[in-house]
Amino acid sequence: MKYSLVASLIAQSSVVLGELIPMHFKAPTPAHFQDIVRNDTFDFGCHPAALPTDEGHYKLRALLTQAQIDFVTKEYASSGITVHRSLTRRQAASAAVPIGSGDRFTAGTKLPVGLGTQSSTARINSILNLNEIKSGVQALVNTYGIGYQELSSKTFEGRTQYIFYAGAGTDKSKYHIYFSAGIHARERGGPDNILYFMADLLAADKAGTGLTYGRKSYTNAQVKSVLQAGIVVFPAVNPDGIAYDQSTDSLWRKNRNTRSGSGSSTGVDLNRNFDFLWDFPKKFASSTSPASTSPGSQTFYGTAPFSEPETKNHASVYDSFPKIRWMVDIHSAVGDVLYSWGDDENQSTTPTQNFLNTAFDGRRGVIGDSSYKEYIPAQDLTNARSAAAAMTNGLKAPGGRSYGYQQAVGLYATSGATDDYAFSRFWAKPGVNKVYGYTLEFAPTGNFYPASLTEFNNNILDTNAGFMDFALEAIRIGLE
Ligand SMILES: [Zn+2]
Repeated sequence: MKYSLVASLIAQSSVVLGELIPMHFKAPTPAHFQDIVRNDTFDFGCHPAALPTDEGHYKLRALLTQAQIDFVTKEYASSGITVHRSLTRRQAASAAVPIGSGDRFTAGTKLPVGLGTQSSTARINSILNLNEIKSGVQALVNTYGIGYQELSSKTFEGRTQYIFYAGAGTDKSKYHIYFSAGIHARERGGPDNILYFMADLLAADKAGTGLTYGRKSYTNAQVKSVLQAGIVVFPAVNPDGIAYDQSTDSLWRKNRNTRSGSGSSTGVDLNRNFDFLWDFPKKFASSTSPASTSPGSQTFYGTAPFSEPETKNHASVYDSFPKIRWMVDIHSAVGDVLYSWGDDENQSTTPTQNFLNTAFDGRRGVIGDSSYKEYIPAQDLTNARSAAAAMTNGLKAPGGRSYGYQQAVGLYATSGATDDYAFSRFWAKPGVNKVYGYTLEFAPTGNFYPASLTEFNNNILDTNAGFMDFALEAIRIGLE
């Protein structure tokens, strides 16, 4: 069916912003969703994902208004797709884990203590607010003398962004692993996962102990090895969005830039704003929707590649730390690890068929066709998959929850994303280091707002073991 019909009707019905309701579609095959995902007014989370269910069907999660749900229920009634509601946003928010109300680290004077260095019954009782993320970082800097650096571009609302780095001293060419979190504001717990992980590493290193996450333990030698790889952390990539989401419970994803639109059309999707095939109307097949040109869309790509201060700052870290080899951008909520590429299926046989070659403009992004696939050298594919598999094993280890890994493109292409930008730099900018880029989608429950303290803490345990196993495999494959 009928994409253009859906698009025109939905455009009318979404003029007034309704409350977004978490829901999912079900269908016998992933191909059933191809038509729905082309509608760029729908919100599919970080990227549309068709997940197998226990009954042998596939599930596509989305956030729709009631008007959109009513519409798709009718429109897709005879197409084998069924529509299912989850909790409403208000129900989800009221059941969710509270946001910290003060400053639990009292202006950088009290250390964050992660779950890996405490007894197995310890719990973290609230999500970090924006001030606490910075205060926690400050405490690590003050206590351990690790590196801290402010980034040059201020956010739309005037916030100063910062990174911290640990494990390899002051020589920035000794840092090889880069973690970022919080690029999508509503993906609560991302900054918490990485801040508490770094607190664990530093504490265990100093005390000469190991780490334990649920059923998985690591030795002090492993802790030291991971830390010595040199770790750079950008803990809150989208602070304007996080502040807004935490004060409104609005499931806000984008930044808060109002230059292209206000109200529900505020903001750019930072994870479509990077300089990788950014100009998707030209670079991709017209039948695909890797991003959106519409400010009202959750995947609005901005006004130019790197039009946003947050994406400029994210990329500037590679210039400050020229030997970064491994990058993980932390998202939720799917429960998988994505490796390169995200613009089309991989191929390792035809180097000239690549994202830089304008001869292939207009052909990219179609899954299952043979007119374009993205080139990845065979050894790079082996390396990329191997570290993704290791991270997945780590994610599963603490509590046995279900995670998987797959190529980022999955069933639907994306443009301008952090992970592809990281990996593309080596070919786009002669002389720079090769970076293996990943998207981690924690929270296999599908909840952007963890539905309970147990869920929030399980996310910390799982991701922290995932980070350890990822870093250990990265070290084994090579940091230089
Ligand atoms: Zn995301």
